[in-house]
Amino acid sequence: MARLEEYRSLVGPDTIEELFLLAKNLNGKSILHVNSTATGGGVAEILNRMVPLLNELGVATRWKVIKGGEDFYAVTKKFHNALHGSQQAIAPRDYQIYEDVVDQNLPYIKLDSDIVFIHDPQPAALVKKRRELKNRWIWRCHIDVSQPDPQVWGFFKPYVEQYDACVFSAPAFAQQLAIPQVLISPSIDPLSDKNRELSQEEIKVVLERLNIPTDKPLVTQVSRFDRLKDPLGVIEAFKKVKPSVDARLVLVGGSADDDPEGIQVLEEVRQKAREDPDIMVLCLPPTSHLEINAIQRASAVILQKSIREGFGLTVTEALWKGKPVIAGAVGGIPLQITHKYSGILTYSIDGTAYWLKQLLNEPAYAKKLGENGKEHVRQNFLLIRHLRDYLLLFLFLDHNRSDFIRLGNQSCF
Ligand code: UDP
Repeated sequence: MARLEEYRSLVGPDTIEELFLLAKNLNGKSILHVNSTATGGGVAEILNRMVPLLNELGVATRWKVIKGGEDFYAVTKKFHNALHGSQQAIAPRDYQIYEDVVDQNLPYIKLDSDIVFIHDPQPAALVKKRRELKNRWIWRCHIDVSQPDPQVWGFFKPYVEQYDACVFSAPAFAQQLAIPQVLISPSIDPLSDKNRELSQEEIKVVLERLNIPTDKPLVTQVSRFDRLKDPLGVIEAFKKVKPSVDARLVLVGGSADDDPEGIQVLEEVRQKAREDPDIMVLCLPPTSHLEINAIQRASAVILQKSIREGFGLTVTEALWKGKPVIAGAVGGIPLQITHKYSGILTYSIDGTAYWLKQLLNEPAYAKKLGENGKEHVRQNFLLIRHLRDYLLLFLFLDHNRSDFIRLGNQSCF
């Protein structure tokens, strides 16, 4: 794993020095992150990098994962979908299952760090414990709650308002809340195996190992097999362009421990892809970072046809590789893609098919979109900016939400 020193040439020495200065001003405060899965999905992806780097900055940081059975994850997946605004059948018993499992976790997670940083709804109710503690609590919402199901949001809101602050990824997700709301975009790590530069030889070796032919341009979507990522819509869009362009579609996915729907969706995707030899469905283990990097880099066009999306790190990853991306205009994706400048935003299967054909036929235009997208990611969505935003947030809480904080004897902000 890359150490902070290695980011110096990417972001400049002053930026790294500033991180150390901010971290020092936390005066030994400790941080605990809690989420619901150690692997799979964007939150685990970020924490895997964020936690070691905070420790390297001298901020003692732990990461714990709450545990639950199948029924808990079935319920929290329904909550997740409902908070994203999709219709779900939720029974009173579901809320009880949720409360019970959170209560069962309470004795096993030491919540006495100076700042407790809870990710997403699954562990949100742990905040009930804070009455016995004298620390600060942050709720980090990674999902698009711009149009949440009122009943499910009504259940979570009293918990959310027990936090000192909450963090959303995009302005459109802001809520009417009695606590401060902070906007912080997620990020990718440019030096991780998922995103680092690869040689043509490295890419070739991975593609051969995975039996992905490179005789035709590759069109790729990387996503958990989740209905909100619309993998079936991707196949339909691809089938629409097939008669006029010669390309291969690769759907790359895997599972996340907290996502029980994946197996069923994967089966539906396999069924739909079955008769077409130009469609490959790859289910990879959650450690396949290098593989995903190589597939993204080998692709001519990358799709992210989400119907709902929190931020969409797969879009960030693809843009960082200079790829033309066609993505659903939902959640945090429009923060990353300006239509026809740094990628393409679409609203339908027909729109996706139309632009897929265009980009495959106009590689120079596609290349320009990718270049603009890469620059946008460089300026806004890399890990060091994210780390700095979190340190500032910790300082804000540590100074009783003061809007003027003196850093050591050296500078103010
Ligand atoms: N990912 C992965 N393997 C997969 C599918 C996804 O490693 O089979 C990674 C992907 O590269 C990205 C993250 O999981 O880093 C997904 O984050 P995103 O924000 O796109 O979606 P989420 O899964 O959090 O809804």
